[in-house]
Amino acid sequence: MKTVGVLALQGDFDAHRRALERVGACALEVRTAIEMDHCDGLVLPGGESTTMLKLLAQENLFEPLRRFGHTRPIYGSCAGAILLARTVAGPAQKSLNLLDISVERNAYGRQLDSRIARIPTAEHGEIEAVFIRAPIIRRVGDSVSIVAMYDGDPVWAEQGPHMVTTFHPELTSDSCVHRRFMDKL
Ligand code: GLN
Repeated sequence: MKTVGVLALQGDFDAHRRALERVGACALEVRTAIEMDHCDGLVLPGGESTTMLKLLAQENLFEPLRRFGHTRPIYGSCAGAILLARTVAGPAQKSLNLLDISVERNAYGRQLDSRIARIPTAEHGEIEAVFIRAPIIRRVGDSVSIVAMYDGDPVWAEQGPHMVTTFHPELTSDSCVHRRFMDKL
């Protein structure tokens, strides 16, 4: 059985833990580098990326997290995608640079803070995607592949072992995102 950690400093970690258990993972809440070491892969949940960055610095977890990403898969959802990106705008902030994407935070604007959309995917059929103050992926590098688009922008992408969604699959019953991540471990 694969052990998948969920970074549990802030945000939506509990829903990810349950979603991972639904696809047969042994899910572990991770708050220290030692806990991280027990994991075959890691999920960075949605929440507030600025707060997560502060807590990562406070707990001395930023570098261990980046090192983890050099050898094992990480999936970032929404704020987690912002943490994994190469560059962040709106405003600019530090990031792990594990996926060659540029993101703009809160890019759908105040009026459209949250929405549920049905989006087509080539490999998983039509899925329901929940966006909550989501970033927009403004640029993807050549080695990034796009799994799904919404409104002309990539919303699900991957590069090597790593994967991001700008939406929240832990809030819907379809398990295809978490299952796809498990296939990378
Ligand atoms: N707006 C948040 C951020 O900028 C992300 C929102 C989310 O994770 N649902 O970090």
